[in-house]
Amino acid sequence: MQPPPKPHPADDLASRSVQAVWHPCTQMKRHETAPPLEIVRGEGVWLVDAQGRRILDAISSWWVNLFGHNQPAIKAAIAAQMDRVEHVMLAGLTHAPVVELSERLRARTGLGHAHYASDGSSATEIALKMSAHYWRNAGQPQKNRFIGLAGGYHGETVGALSVTDIPLFRASYAPLVRLSATVPAPDPRFAPAGMDEAAWVAHCAAELERHLQDHADHTAALIVEPLVQCASGFAFHPPAYLAQVRALCTRYGVHLVADEIAVGMGRTGTLLACEHAGVQPDFLCLSKGLTGGYLPLSVVLTTDAVYQAFYDDDVARGFLHSHSYTGNPLACSAALATLDLLDDAQLAANRELGARLDALFAPLHAHPRLRHGRRLGTIWAWDVADAPADFSRRFAAEALARGALLRPIGSTLYFMPPYVIDTAAAARLRDAALDALHAVLGAAASSTPATQPALP
Ligand SMILES: *Cc1c(COP(=O)(O)O)cnc(C)c1O
Repeated sequence: MQPPPKPHPADDLASRSVQAVWHPCTQMKRHETAPPLEIVRGEGVWLVDAQGRRILDAISSWWVNLFGHNQPAIKAAIAAQMDRVEHVMLAGLTHAPVVELSERLRARTGLGHAHYASDGSSATEIALKMSAHYWRNAGQPQKNRFIGLAGGYHGETVGALSVTDIPLFRASYAPLVRLSATVPAPDPRFAPAGMDEAAWVAHCAAELERHLQDHADHTAALIVEPLVQCASGFAFHPPAYLAQVRALCTRYGVHLVADEIAVGMGRTGTLLACEHAGVQPDFLCLSKGLTGGYLPLSVVLTTDAVYQAFYDDDVARGFLHSHSYTGNPLACSAALATLDLLDDAQLAANRELGARLDALFAPLHAHPRLRHGRRLGTIWAWDVADAPADFSRRFAAEALARGALLRPIGSTLYFMPPYVIDTAAAARLRDAALDALHAVLGAAASSTPATQPALP
């Protein structure tokens, strides 16, 4: 067991950081008692702090890192591109990495037209705008509303918030946001007593159909995180639901946007989560792991039918959306190197890894205070029963003191490690989590329910 971080003198990097850096997803006042941890190096699944302590990155640095830190092939690809040209604007110009990446994504997803941005929220914005603009170009400008799933998360820019159903992120900006409709997702945890999975899926699909019957005329698209809604606390739904969503969107003339920003790139055991359901979306959003966690890049892939609706002599019928760093060559080179690594053999290895670690995590599945143990690919989640107030923050601190980077969402503990985690590291992760659970739950004399809001 490693000692907890020492109190910091006022001029160390952590103190300077809280003075100068407004950290994301953070109530800054909390840094008074828990300063940010300075990381100086990374190696595989490990991060190394300024004191030389090794910390297991069990959440892939907010779900972006696939093949570990300091990954030789991705580094080499970026370095090689850096010697050629670091950036090429994409209006009027082009470059090999963005063309090759688009062609390779087309070959692997069946979606032939790639529009780039630098982060996931921007991909959501692009998909929503492109869908509504499609309907406008198709002579149905009134089709400009959206549907999301309850508990959905699609980013935090103002447009993305309109389909993000997490009140903590949205409530403060309510006057700015044009709310979308939400329909329930068939999360098995919330199935009514006595209802089997098929009936629960059918029930939720029927709710969507009821909404579409009344509102399809004004609806451009439905957006979904296929199979796992990560940010709201790892809510799973069965592939059968996704297949029904696809069928309903087709029947009612509404686009399906698959936000695979978190679950794409091999995380669920297939390249895309949609593949589990044999579903082809009209728009596919990728980001996070797209560059293996090296550089910010996102892409929206879409169909010939959508593309053709914009193809015209009239400039205003085109999709004029742009970002300065769209399709950046360094980022595209990192994505190409990542796709090289993520071949069929690697996807098979990911499936094997998921099953093998699941057995290793049996003590967590059997833990008396952990409920609803669930796994898809290399995503694990458990809900802590009767979690004490502030469970997430206290657990994260205890896990860090034991050398594991973990950030429960509310009372949901999850692992989403890089694909290169080995059995020994996974065993250490399991033991760190069990010890941290004991430290937090054992210490809670009378357990008051968790009241702190859930932050990813
Ligand atoms: C993280 C995430 C986003 C937002 O991506 P950013 O790069 O953080 O803007 C959107 N959708 C899903 C499903 C995500 O997990």
